[in-house]
Amino acid sequence: MWVLATKSLDAMIPYGRQHIAADDIESVVRALDSDFLTTGPLVDEFEMALARKIGVDHGVACSNGTAALYLASSALLASCRDTPVAIVPTMTFTATAGAPAMAGARVVFADVDPSTGLMTAENLEEAVAYAAQIGTPKLVLPVHLNGQVAPMKAICDIARRHGMVVVEDACHALGGTYGIGDGEGNGMVGDCTFSDASCFSFHPVKTVTMGEGGAVCMADSELARHVKRLRSHGLTRESADFTSSQSALDGQGRPEPWHYEIQDLSLNFRVPDILCALGLSQLNKLDTFVARRRSLFEHYARRLAPYADLVRPIERVPGQDPSWHLMVVHIDFASLGIARGALVRALRDEGICTQVHYIPLHRQPLWQAQAKGRRFDGGERYFARSLSLPLFYDMAEDQVDRVVDTLVRIVSATARSNTQSVRRTS
Ligand SMILES: *Cc1c(COP(=O)(O)O)cnc(C)c1O
Repeated sequence: MWVLATKSLDAMIPYGRQHIAADDIESVVRALDSDFLTTGPLVDEFEMALARKIGVDHGVACSNGTAALYLASSALLASCRDTPVAIVPTMTFTATAGAPAMAGARVVFADVDPSTGLMTAENLEEAVAYAAQIGTPKLVLPVHLNGQVAPMKAICDIARRHGMVVVEDACHALGGTYGIGDGEGNGMVGDCTFSDASCFSFHPVKTVTMGEGGAVCMADSELARHVKRLRSHGLTRESADFTSSQSALDGQGRPEPWHYEIQDLSLNFRVPDILCALGLSQLNKLDTFVARRRSLFEHYARRLAPYADLVRPIERVPGQDPSWHLMVVHIDFASLGIARGALVRALRDEGICTQVHYIPLHRQPLWQAQAKGRRFDGGERYFARSLSLPLFYDMAEDQVDRVVDTLVRIVSATARSNTQSVRRTS
């Protein structure tokens, strides 16, 4: 009895978790029994299934979402002679900035909307003007934070006007829809209507998982071939791509069957067939996964509604139906007099795991120099108020209730005791 009274790990509610079912396991076991473990038919099959789902012509699967961002940046910056500048919103995971930096770009941060954390057209304009002083703005990477889509049409217009390419970081947003504007209805997130490429991650906390995995989606077949080549050492075996005739052709002018060319400097970013098997069976369930996340988000919103003076769900962008990667709430920690760390600890003591997405990149030791002398008030304000609550497919409504009740109890008790102590001291 005494043991039962102490908290067990089972009672912990994680902030995110994968859903693996029997069909996923069967799919992986079948792949293990096949002739291919790494690059085989399931890579192609997964790429085609993903592209079909999103409504885009080409998908190239790779080792993770970071690799996807790197491969897209690298391919799109390849023809750039001068030092290119990549514009990245400050409110994102470090991969969005690290990938273009590793691909040779200098990174300039853009501020974000304080309510949604998304880069706006004004934020981009301001960043482009700054970037033009230090180099050639070439690339912009809008991030679809929490699953909500950045204003792509406006971002694309600005980018085109400045001769820049657009790579969407859609790692949070697989399966969502967004308004494409001018009454033209909804598009699937990552459909590249307003971008050159979109990037996805299949990490276990994302909507669909492969353990580790990523993909670049794009409309242009030339770009897809380039990304595919970069995925594996810049190596091609396609005779149509050969640029050197030295040893490519035999005495009769026929392509040598063993010939290959290395055309770009790259590394190995391949994803194995085994993981694509998991990706395929997971992708079959995307609609169910997304429907469940939306339903849990709505349940949170309903349950939180009476406490809007203390805790508010993230502000919704009109005209979108996001897949909700994260359940972010905003709490005005400063004016309520609550320490975020104390709240996170208190929630953890009650078996509820939370996170902060993200510490803005301009604050990170690695990126501080890039951000020197500039202000990111929107990013600061978003960061100061954000907390990510648990959200995952297998979460039950009563777990949402438990999270909301516990959160509201702790927050209102702290806020009340602060008000009382303020009254006492004044
Ligand atoms: C997860 C994520 C990535 C990186 O994906 P990995 O598969 O973990 O490499 C990049 N950007 C954002 C916004 C992400 O959430």
